[in-house]
Amino acid sequence: MPASRRFNELTSLLDIFNFKLSFSILIFTLLIIPMPACKNCQTAFTISPEDRAFYGRIGVPLPTLCVNCRRQHLASFWPFGNFYQRKCDQTGESIISTFSPQAPFPVYKRENWLKDNWQVPEAKVNLDQPFLEQLTALQKKTPHYHQLTDGTNVNCEYCDDAYTSKNCYLTRSFAESEDLYFGYRMVGCKDCFDSVYSYNLEKCYSCTRCWQCYNTHYSLESRDCLDSYFLYDCRGCKNCLMCWNLRNAEYCIKNQQYSAAEYERKIAEINFGSWFTIQDLKAEFKKVLVAEAIHRDNFNVKTVNCSGNYLTESKNCRDCFFMEEGEDCFNLMRALGNKDIYDSVGPYRGQLSCGSAQSLDCYNFKFCVYAIRCRDSEYLDQCEDCHDCFGCVGLRKKSFCILNKQYPEAEYRRLVKLIKEKMTARGEYGEYLPVSMMYNGYNDTLAYLYFPENREQVAARGAGWQEEIITEPKIDLTVEELPDSIQGTKTEAVVNKTIKCGKTGKIFRYIPQEIKFYQANNIPLPRYYYNYRVTENFRQMAGLFGREAACGLCGQKITSYYPAEWGYRKIYCEECYRKEIY
Ligand SMILES: [Zn+2]
Ligand SMILES: [Zn+2]
Repeated sequence: MPASRRFNELTSLLDIFNFKLSFSILIFTLLIIPMPACKNCQTAFTISPEDRAFYGRIGVPLPTLCVNCRRQHLASFWPFGNFYQRKCDQTGESIISTFSPQAPFPVYKRENWLKDNWQVPEAKVNLDQPFLEQLTALQKKTPHYHQLTDGTNVNCEYCDDAYTSKNCYLTRSFAESEDLYFGYRMVGCKDCFDSVYSYNLEKCYSCTRCWQCYNTHYSLESRDCLDSYFLYDCRGCKNCLMCWNLRNAEYCIKNQQYSAAEYERKIAEINFGSWFTIQDLKAEFKKVLVAEAIHRDNFNVKTVNCSGNYLTESKNCRDCFFMEEGEDCFNLMRALGNKDIYDSVGPYRGQLSCGSAQSLDCYNFKFCVYAIRCRDSEYLDQCEDCHDCFGCVGLRKKSFCILNKQYPEAEYRRLVKLIKEKMTARGEYGEYLPVSMMYNGYNDTLAYLYFPENREQVAARGAGWQEEIITEPKIDLTVEELPDSIQGTKTEAVVNKTIKCGKTGKIFRYIPQEIKFYQANNIPLPRYYYNYRVTENFRQMAGLFGREAACGLCGQKITSYYPAEWGYRKIYCEECYRKEIY
């Protein structure tokens, strides 16, 4: 027998042996490690051997919540929804905050919070009392800053999570932008209204996940387009209406080519300034998305060995969403530049962590919310530039603290070890910051956007609900009384009037800059509260729940993130999408 054949036979024998071995290990694992049931939703979930190894490596117990409940719990620490006029509890000055006047702790204007002229409360740890109860009590006494910003914005008071921007209003999570109104997650945009998850747009209205577009409205997933309406997955198009999957086209309506003159004539027949006309066009656009448009199975770009959706330049990441530059991460949402991070929402440039929400430049941190430049710490809430802290709130530039109280290093280490032993014995160590520490009512958090729940469901989990604060009891106009068309609408007839939202019942008003934009761009007056509009646009994107599906062309198995109830007919695998579209 030639040596090579012997070698082949030997390796195939080894393969069978290996297969049998791994199969036995699998069965053995399934038998001895029962699938845990999620503490919140009672659904059974699995933890892979690889994940067990990670939790072991960073020294935390296995999670007790399923993947979705972990996301939901952590996202509920991110205020998102309303902006409130309230007072800074230190100086009494009027501020706009994502914290309502009923927030469970004092709220300081961030500029004041950053000063050293106030005393952070502290507590002596009681080893016989549940630790997270003591932390909750400390949190209620400790001032929190009013909004997330690095102080580089001009005239962006009604905003949150804002950086190097100017003249923005009711906009959240954005950078390097100017004149943004009612936006969410925008970078480098100018003069845009009602848009989400977009980059370098100018003069656009109601766009979702668009890049480098100008004067383009009601569009989705489009790049480098101008002077167009209702585009889906178009690139380099101009003067187009209601088109999908087009590349470098001009004068198209519903993907049909027209001459410039014909196109202009057809467009002139449509009153884009009419609210009812736009509703009809929106309904038609929905039909296009269902029956005509080709949808790629995911929007991952330059990824290696990754699962999830909306991932860019990432490697070995699983079940992650809306993430750039991640490596060896699992179950992240809204993330940038992370390595070795599990089960977290909003980590930026972090390493070695789990169970945290909103962090920036942190290393080796666990179960923290709003941690900035912290390391080697656990259970922090709104701490900055700290290291070696355990269970602290509102601390800056501190180390070796427990419940904000400073100890000599050796005593700190001894106490932390003891506290963790006690917590472990009580089944407390490894739990996330409790629902009782949530900043806002659930309906006023980012979790509500991704995991909408009603008041009863929220109450059943022990979370709070933000009641409507009526500051404007008098309604000037109902939505039915609003003019249908922006053309001919006199500014003084509508500006600053109180209007009751046709969907949420919330009271809102148009500010002068808004009316000016609608008039200049022939956009009808919106009839719904801004957060409802932002949420509707956001929900045009695929969700966080993957399901097994077959490519609509070749039948190959794919993971689809489009909810089945959307009824999209043409969801294609990447190869088929490329074959069809390019
Ligand atoms: Zn669950
Ligand atoms: Zn295919």
